[in-house]
Amino acid sequence: MTFTTVPRPLDLAHLFPGLAAHARTATRLHPRPGVPSITGSHVGGPLLWPADEPWPRCARPHRVEQRQLLPHEQAARLGRRPDLMGMVEKYPGFFGIHRDEAGTHVITHVNRPAPEPSPLLPVAQLRAQDVPDLPLPPGMGMLQVLWCPHVHPEDRDQYGPAVQLRWRSAAGITEPLASAPAPTVVPDEMFHPRPCVLHPEQVVEYPWWQELPEQLGSQVRAFDDSREFGQPSYYAVSQARGWKAGGYANWGSSDRLPMTCDGCSREMALVLSMTKSESFGGTWRTEQETHLEPSWTDPRWRDADRPTGVSVGWDDALRVFACLSCPGTPFRLNSQ
Ligand SMILES: [Zn+2]
Ligand SMILES: [Zn+2]
Repeated sequence: MTFTTVPRPLDLAHLFPGLAAHARTATRLHPRPGVPSITGSHVGGPLLWPADEPWPRCARPHRVEQRQLLPHEQAARLGRRPDLMGMVEKYPGFFGIHRDEAGTHVITHVNRPAPEPSPLLPVAQLRAQDVPDLPLPPGMGMLQVLWCPHVHPEDRDQYGPAVQLRWRSAAGITEPLASAPAPTVVPDEMFHPRPCVLHPEQVVEYPWWQELPEQLGSQVRAFDDSREFGQPSYYAVSQARGWKAGGYANWGSSDRLPMTCDGCSREMALVLSMTKSESFGGTWRTEQETHLEPSWTDPRWRDADRPTGVSVGWDDALRVFACLSCPGTPFRLNSQ
């Protein structure tokens, strides 16, 4: 199926003279549950991997969730509103209480060293011929993304999975690995992508207001400040939401941060944006799915809005920025 984004509710290039010069395309990936092939572009499917190349593994400590079922008497003593400080003292790493038909559970988060290095999970495979806006280093034709599907307590400024990238040449791989090794540590459910096939679509984007020349940026900001609640804004329609390659970054959870390369001091390119929701409350839904009403009980809506099942970033997004000219293609992550 071909997916097309619903028409933009504002003609930004017409509203802001001079903005058209800053237009750039991004490729919305439109992942949807399916059966990916090892040679194609996809999320959560098998990677075309050279049989003689070691599969990356993670040996770092992970934050894991533990549930402890309390004896009935102890649970009864807790009451409906347990003393928080007391719980933190009694249960190191106390995170919360969960009650279900089995009883009352105390949830703790503990940092646990890996019993053995655990293989990373395949997250995405993107080929240049399928994803026109995919930034690539010279001579490369494919990007593979993997991650260790856990929170790593050592990463103080990066909440979420530990990402690794592999850039492959367009020439292809003659002897691929038959199947990826399975993780030896059970993946965090929110970092375990469902297998999805892609339906790429190019869309036009404009920069975050702080990336525009000062006067134009101020105009855009003043326009958004004047909008009533519920009216379309520059903020909502200038950068595509959902999984996408290339384009501009939205900095809605922080002000714009410089993503510069330590090697050459130049600004890195936004390579890939990975998000929980595809439609951003409807602004970025597709024409083919407008008949679906938001509903957690409707699997068709879940497939359209939360197709990959992953939940990344502080709020909704994890982005990969890379320097395409420095040796080794250094990259940085940013959470929003
Ligand atoms: Zn790990
Ligand atoms: Zn660089």
